[in-house]
Amino acid sequence: MFKKLSIILLFFIFSQTLFAQANNYLRNTSLVNNKLILTFKYNIDNVKPLALEGNGLVKYIYDIKNGVLPKSKKISHYQYKGIKTFRMGQFNKDYLRIVIESYSRNKRNYSIVGKVLTIYLNTSSSIQQKVYPKKIIKSKKSYAKNSHNGKTIIIDPGHGGRDVGALGKGIYEKAITLQISKRLRKELQKRGYKVFMTRTYDKYMSLKDRTEYANARNGNMFISIHANAAPKGKPKKNYQGFEVFHLSLENSDRERNNRAYYKGKYYYSVAAYKKMTSSWKIATSRKLAKKISSAVLTKVRRGYTLNDKGIRRSDFWVLLASKMPAVLIETGYLTHDKELQKLRSKRYQERFSKGIADGIDAYFK
Ligand SMILES: [Zn+2]
Repeated sequence: MFKKLSIILLFFIFSQTLFAQANNYLRNTSLVNNKLILTFKYNIDNVKPLALEGNGLVKYIYDIKNGVLPKSKKISHYQYKGIKTFRMGQFNKDYLRIVIESYSRNKRNYSIVGKVLTIYLNTSSSIQQKVYPKKIIKSKKSYAKNSHNGKTIIIDPGHGGRDVGALGKGIYEKAITLQISKRLRKELQKRGYKVFMTRTYDKYMSLKDRTEYANARNGNMFISIHANAAPKGKPKKNYQGFEVFHLSLENSDRERNNRAYYKGKYYYSVAAYKKMTSSWKIATSRKLAKKISSAVLTKVRRGYTLNDKGIRRSDFWVLLASKMPAVLIETGYLTHDKELQKLRSKRYQERFSKGIADGIDAYFK
């Protein structure tokens, strides 16, 4: 019994060593979402990553030890936004080389699990416009982790599609919220956060779909971006400024009237509402609202006037049903001429986004 086992074991170890030195044929390539997946015949022995930067491009090189490109196999031609070219070839007899020319820096590099090499094409800060001097960056293991330890932020640009939101001088809220959200995404990615947006173009999305999207991605934070309008019949010039809403079931109509209601569409009892939240979520959301509010005021007021309408409590659906600290930011009033002008400008949007990002940083500190 023992003898038999040791023989099998020896053979097993021996053959594993043999396999490691043998030609490790590439069996399959596929592109799934942002992942380029390469499957080999045997466990991958070693991958040497390299990044070369120049002329507005980052060239990611992966040299796979013992990797062999099968002669008969056709290599799929993939297209991915932000990627200029994708090449693969036999670098020398020991290494298979994969080259990905990207317009932007990748946040995460790659991972190896057994026979599978996964290369992440997730793009972050764009370098398309800039020209960098040629230099070699050796990829480190720590490359995979960012300073925020992979915190995921869900940005929710309010409204969209047939739901246009507020209106000011022919400008719809849905357009402003998307612009600010995209700038915020860029800023957060620059700071090392992982970011998802509930929508990235002008499309309708129900509130339920938005929170389900956020929950499915296990966000650490939900940021809903909106813009305001003065109430009908009230003087428009009297309404300007920004405010941040966080979840609370106090002062809620639903609570007070003990009725189960949501915009005539989804019906929940007050008990169900209470189940959807927790004291943890309420406390963290309040903390987040405070951090964002003060950071935005600090940042924006360095170059503009900004009326502080404060921190407010609400039981908005997006705050209630997202299973993470959540805030809703009313960035300003589209019905106020001067504020509309600012809200439409790139500089103001960027500054505002930086303010929000500062608040998010402060929250995690
Ligand atoms: Zn809105």
